[in-house]
Amino acid sequence: MKNLKYSLSVIMLMVGNVAFGQQRPTMVPEMTEIWEPEVPVVKPGETPQAPPSDAIVLMSPDLPLEKEWVNGKGEKPEWTYENGEATVSKGDIKTKRQFGDFQLHVEWRSPKEVKGDSQGRGNSGIFLQGIYEVQVLDSYNNRTYRNGQAASLYKQHAPLVNACKGPGEWQTYDIIYTAPRFKDDGTFFTPPMVTVIHNGVLVQNNVALRGPTEYIGIPEYTSKPHGKGPLSLQNHGNPVSFRNIWIREL
Ligand code: MG
Repeated sequence: MKNLKYSLSVIMLMVGNVAFGQQRPTMVPEMTEIWEPEVPVVKPGETPQAPPSDAIVLMSPDLPLEKEWVNGKGEKPEWTYENGEATVSKGDIKTKRQFGDFQLHVEWRSPKEVKGDSQGRGNSGIFLQGIYEVQVLDSYNNRTYRNGQAASLYKQHAPLVNACKGPGEWQTYDIIYTAPRFKDDGTFFTPPMVTVIHNGVLVQNNVALRGPTEYIGIPEYTSKPHGKGPLSLQNHGNPVSFRNIWIREL
């Protein structure tokens, strides 16, 4: 069934390409899901990592959440927050600060109690500049489409391997990000480039993004030109937690 889904998606995408210049078929989410081949599993080493001296600390037990974060309306964030650990509750949250190129460290934990499957298990996300998602998902013994699992650049790049720890365990992402540069016509002069190290394992090696993350349809190069943007953390309805977030602007 999954193979069939995959084949259908690919055929539909090819049809879309062949029909370039003509009207594209109406897209549905499944058309951009790629299931095969399954991403190989790697068992990672131990966690956490303290911030270096030149980092901007965005989340730690020493900071109230509202020091660096706001909700979608720019008001006080409404996530559960204890001992420097923020857990998804109401809405998304985003940083007050705006960032261009950076090195980012984030620790996250999917719920210990396993509920749901595929995209419904431990789903959250880190949106770079507010629009490019590094997927957060409990991908431990949880198949989903490969370009939507943990540490994917959602629906654009599957991770090289699956370095996910189990539910309830803290995990790390170290993300190196180069923001896009734009031409006068609004297309990329250079696209956003992303490297992701998941639990100490390289899973995205300086990959280029096509455009802002899309749930439905193919992302376009012709995004709106933008300057610096916030980091935002996604509420996808699952109580995923975050801690020890720090960033170094490059
Ligand atoms: Mg997500």
